[in-house]
Amino acid sequence: SPVPDYLSEVLHTCFGDTSGHTAGYIPELAAADPDLFGLALSTVDGSVYCAGDAGVEFTIQSISKPFIYALAIKEHGLESVLQKVGVEPSGEAFNELSLERESKRPLNPMINAGAITAHTLIAGQGDDGARRDAVILDGLSAFAGRSLTVNESVLGSEMGTAHRNLAIAHMLRSHGIIDQEPAEVVRGYTRQCSINVTARDLALMAATLANGGVQPLTGEQVLTAGVVRQVLAVMTTCGMYDAAGDWVTTVGIPAKSGVAGGIIGALPGQVGLAAFSPRLDHHGNSVRGIKACERLSQDMGLHLMEVP
Ligand code: GLN
Repeated sequence: SPVPDYLSEVLHTCFGDTSGHTAGYIPELAAADPDLFGLALSTVDGSVYCAGDAGVEFTIQSISKPFIYALAIKEHGLESVLQKVGVEPSGEAFNELSLERESKRPLNPMINAGAITAHTLIAGQGDDGARRDAVILDGLSAFAGRSLTVNESVLGSEMGTAHRNLAIAHMLRSHGIIDQEPAEVVRGYTRQCSINVTARDLALMAATLANGGVQPLTGEQVLTAGVVRQVLAVMTTCGMYDAAGDWVTTVGIPAKSGVAGGIIGALPGQVGLAAFSPRLDHHGNSVRGIKACERLSQDMGLHLMEVP
């Protein structure tokens, strides 16, 4: 197949861009090797192609958000999740302390306020944090098609500086959006963000979304098509935070980024893409990851608004 050579070529043309910085607010992420760069692509029928550091593990961070949102809808139904979390792009940073004016819901499930809320809905919406941790690890593993693990050093490191997420959780609690203990919720959410993945895993997770909820390798129907549509729509408008407009015009596919440097893109019926490079722009999105996705979208005509 010519695809691996093509991916290496894209990787090499983007490699020289060393702008941006590793995430500064989590010591363990700040210390990541900034030169790592991996690309992976999975078709909906499970052909997986990799280049560069696509087998290196890093933490999933906010790329967990669309999958946990999906599992919350699967568990409670869309109507009930919509009462807790909205679907409007915020135009603000991912960690903004903001709520919808009237409803007091977080604006969407891709920013931290909405993701922390979605996290609390998993495994019965109760106080059993250990059970929620296990259901989340199993749930993300089903999308990846292998058993994922937690990076305990990143978890510990982020918990040491989690003041902003604690503030968000207290804000949610004060408005009755969540009813669990804020500190326990932030611990669980941070653990969810600290799950190890590779770019290859992420490409398969994205391909599961692109494939109507069926994991291409295991054949497991992880989500129904209706849930997938909801998640991809929210990724399109909110997945890249306050850079969503730039992304949707240039790359034009549903996407999600994370502060460890991962990005996924899912093109319905076609492919899941993943990039990994730790240097971030001021929105918290991977600089070389965005560049590579722009190339892939242009070269392969992936933009959703393109008239065939
Ligand atoms: N764990 C990170 C946080 O809550 C995730 C943020 C991100 O990846 N954008 O700050």
